[in-house]
Amino acid sequence: MVAFVKPPNPPGKPSGKPTDPCHELPGKLEPRIDALRCEGKADCLRVCPYDVFTLRPLTREEKSVLTPLVRFKIWAHGGKQAFVERPDACHACGLCVTACPEAAIKLVRGVSPMGIAPLE
Ligand code: SF4
Repeated sequence: MVAFVKPPNPPGKPSGKPTDPCHELPGKLEPRIDALRCEGKADCLRVCPYDVFTLRPLTREEKSVLTPLVRFKIWAHGGKQAFVERPDACHACGLCVTACPEAAIKLVRGVSPMGIAPLE
């Protein structure tokens, strides 16, 4: 039997997040955020037991690949968006999927560190 231990919170991150109800090993699934739906409300950051997400403004390079509609939407919601900062830490509990009021998150099969999706 494998026991899962919640990693310590990074410095400056508050504790008190929900306990992970998941029994999945990390690295099998990871969240994907729909940039057109995300409004930067940060519910995913609050519920994720593994601090997978971060919320920050987009860099100039990130903005350059978005359509004008998406750039406008992000600007209209404060200029910030959620990002998947630690995909390898995801335990596929689904808390973020349920918590997102914009239904902007789905779980997908993990991608290797080289960016190549694993074979089915
Ligand atoms: S499914 Fe979502 S809330 Fe659960 S560990 Fe993965 S990123 Fe965090």
